[in-house]
Amino acid sequence: MTTATMTASDMKVTIGPTKLLINNEWVSAASGKTFDTINPATGEVITSLAEADRADVDKAVKAARAAFEPTSKWRKMSGTRRGALLHKLADLIEQNAEGLARLETLDNGKPFNDSLKADVPLTVACYRYYAGWADKIHGKTIPVNGPYFCYTRHEPVGVCGQIIPWNFPMLMQAWKLGPALACGCTVILKPAEQTPLTALRVGELIVEAGFPPGVVNILPGYGPTAGAAIANHLEIDKVAFTGSTEVGKLVMEAAAKSNLKRVTLELGGKSPNIVFADADLDAAIEGAHFALFFNQGQCCCAGSRLFVEERCYDEFVARSVERAKKRKVGDPFSSGVEQGPQVDQEQFNKVMSYIEAGKKEGAKLAVGGNRVGNRGYFIEPTVFADVKDDMKIAQEEIFGPVMSIIKFKDLNDVIERANRTIYGLAAAVWTRDISKAHAIANGVRAGTVWVNCYDVFDAAAPFGGYKMSGIGRELGEYGLANYTEVKTVTVKL
Ligand code: ADP
Repeated sequence: MTTATMTASDMKVTIGPTKLLINNEWVSAASGKTFDTINPATGEVITSLAEADRADVDKAVKAARAAFEPTSKWRKMSGTRRGALLHKLADLIEQNAEGLARLETLDNGKPFNDSLKADVPLTVACYRYYAGWADKIHGKTIPVNGPYFCYTRHEPVGVCGQIIPWNFPMLMQAWKLGPALACGCTVILKPAEQTPLTALRVGELIVEAGFPPGVVNILPGYGPTAGAAIANHLEIDKVAFTGSTEVGKLVMEAAAKSNLKRVTLELGGKSPNIVFADADLDAAIEGAHFALFFNQGQCCCAGSRLFVEERCYDEFVARSVERAKKRKVGDPFSSGVEQGPQVDQEQFNKVMSYIEAGKKEGAKLAVGGNRVGNRGYFIEPTVFADVKDDMKIAQEEIFGPVMSIIKFKDLNDVIERANRTIYGLAAAVWTRDISKAHAIANGVRAGTVWVNCYDVFDAAAPFGGYKMSGIGRELGEYGLANYTEVKTVTVKL
């Protein structure tokens, strides 16, 4: 396998594997094709990688099916041992934290400090959390009528296809692999084409941890080819997808048309972040800034509809603009940098077109709106004030550093307006009034509600969407349900 080293801002980054991981072996694509992954801070090619397509998916499915046979090593392995393997993987990731964080930053563009202090520890915590579940997955005994003994078994759902996005590559891999492996499934995982490098490096650690061949197969490639081959495959029992709502619909359609494989989807959002005038404004301003700008604005749960009560609106806008002006944008490997580049040219263009749409529709551009520098995909932290509910920037997911501040009058007015969206992933409320906080928490149709905080994640707390933000929940005990089938066994006594 190829390992190369390269320098980015004087930081050495070890690239790791660049081939497909099938049956614990590193192999080229059947077609021999490769594709490039680029450094979003410079626009330069980092390396080229094997490009998976249908033939490779077929090969990986064969390996994953063999590993799922009832007599296989993996299927006969106890839950305790599966948990030990997941713990071992978590240990290896922790021991390689620095290298993985560098690789994540190189491929994705997020600040190195975020990769090291957020992505890596959350990844480790997720694997450890699910390691703990592996020997605690079991059914019930059920007191049925008649001379029968009835019980349920929570069996692994089977061979799982997992398609992940580029905004938190390593963490989304953990959200997917953690519960699947705890439950005893086998997996074909496709990282996003923009950010395949850490997924493959973790693949190397999976092999080192001692997972048997075929249990985890990792296939970098493009969505319409490798991704669609997974969603359409007749021998895949379940598909889990995180990405855009548009592609989520395609995945569900493919699942329906092929073999009715089980589907879980974690999709887009346009989350309302609601600030009342009685809130701790310092905390709310900083919290709203974080809620929107964290990860270059590339979060499905970003607080991208910022509703501010009219009594504090002018002050809130002025101070949010000042905060945005101070946000340090630049080389993601430099210390103190809060914002790196957008992930690629396509995302950069999309965000810039939303900024144009905001201006055209008459929102007030209070700060930002331009590209930063002349190479890489950097965008100024941008704040629009006087945004109206029906503007494009208040309705569609921008996935970039563009804050839209909307004025509201009172509690009743804001709940109805917060819900006027096709999405329902997350919401937040900032207030010192416990009644208002609960009114929002109960009234908004969203899978997660944060009160006086934002983006607080824990492997134990479920996450997922209402409405067109998705189907099913990831993380926590709820996340296990996606990876088991319930079997009822009735025995005549
Ligand atoms: P984004 O628009 O943010 O890049 P996508 O939804 O396009 O998000 O991509 C998320 C993941 O879905 C990526 O791994 C991508 O390759 C994959 N993908 C894209 N199109 C398809 C498709 N038609 N079928 C299956 N997976 C796809």
